[in-house]
Amino acid sequence: IQTDLARLDWPKGDGLLPAVVQHWLTGEVLMLGYMNADALAETQRSGHVTFWSRSKQRLWTKGESSGHVLALKSIRVDCDADTLLLQAEPHGPTCHNGTSSCFGDDVRPPLGFLAELDVLVARRDADRPQGSYTTRLFEGGVRRIAQKVGEEGVETALAAVAQGEKELLGEAADLLFHLVVLLRARGLSLADAAGVLERRHAAR
Ligand code: AMP
Ligand code: ZN
Ligand code: ZN
Ligand code: ZN
Repeated sequence: IQTDLARLDWPKGDGLLPAVVQHWLTGEVLMLGYMNADALAETQRSGHVTFWSRSKQRLWTKGESSGHVLALKSIRVDCDADTLLLQAEPHGPTCHNGTSSCFGDDVRPPLGFLAELDVLVARRDADRPQGSYTTRLFEGGVRRIAQKVGEEGVETALAAVAQGEKELLGEAADLLFHLVVLLRARGLSLADAAGVLERRHAAR
């Protein structure tokens, strides 16, 4: 989960380099902090993103008091080795103001939530929490879910020709959700289907 940390140009930042933290699934930029070599070592050791806090003048593990830690997924170094990019899974809002990102609540890429939903549905499949609609769908089996996707497909088509934007968007959302569940029930994901589209695009 790291690229060439030995390349890092610590002297360039007088021992302190900026570290951008990005949501591992959605690509949302969560925050920016500064790391020294100790902060980087502690981040790797604990798996929780840790900075050198310039205001506290000590190592600061994000979430140490709030519990809203950033679980490390990967570390990268930029082209000229003076900036870090950390991909992480946030456990709660990253900003102390309560927003998911320190840059506000509207910095998530437009389709970012689909990536989160894809993983959430896979977790529901693994955990099967009681009382969850998704659990009930999985327990109904592939045929039942397939039927549901067919129904939502027809409802989406009908809404497109005979209903307003609000109804069409609602049906399209139903279709997307049930499609994700159907793919999961067959051991696949929306990311797999997106990969097919991407390879087609690349092969044009
Ligand atoms: P936490 O690390 O989440 O337990 O928060 C401890 C303290 O660190 C907060 O009271 C803030 O002063 C500061 N803090 C928390 N999150 C951020 C952030 N994303 N950016 C800057 N300062 C923060
Ligand atoms: Zn750079
Ligand atoms: Zn903040
Ligand atoms: Zn519907």
